[in-house]
Amino acid sequence: MTKHAVIVVDVLNEFVDGLVGRPHAINVIEPCQKIIAAARDLKVPVIYTNDAHNDNDIELAIWGPHAMKGTEGAMVHDGVAPQDGDIVIEKHNYSGFFKTELDETLKGLGVDSLVVVGLYSNICCRLTCVDAFQHGYKVTIAREAMTSFDEAAYEGDLEYLKIVAGAEAVSVDEAIALLSA
Ligand code: ZN
Repeated sequence: MTKHAVIVVDVLNEFVDGLVGRPHAINVIEPCQKIIAAARDLKVPVIYTNDAHNDNDIELAIWGPHAMKGTEGAMVHDGVAPQDGDIVIEKHNYSGFFKTELDETLKGLGVDSLVVVGLYSNICCRLTCVDAFQHGYKVTIAREAMTSFDEAAYEGDLEYLKIVAGAEAVSVDEAIALLSA
């Protein structure tokens, strides 16, 4: 039987309205709230993968300091804050799987299917979805609950993830139906 989890990628202050925020990022908050609430009701694990950078993290050479561990920027946006029972995984690279406990955590829960939401479809969501595929997970994207750094590139990003990671992009309502099945 399929067991799902919802992966919430980098819905952090820094990526919504901070140093690497984009004006359209706020649009994912409400759809994220909807799917996260549904997952909690259905007892589907909700797992946050959050940048929590240290000074020597490789990424900073490209993006500059952002979402530094312990700062306001590295906090999950208020609208989708983790609650008791959710799982929070800190990461230092784009992918939620890279040098983290995400794969063991999912395997421990018996999860084999991920619904991925968050920021951004061309960076951390992309690398996380590809790694999820490479680790053997079925990947589904809840379309309104994700966006690209460049909003106009979003459809192309989804197409890439379909081709490379077999990721199916569905509406939030369809994703909730999937979690309920
Ligand atoms: Zn980062």
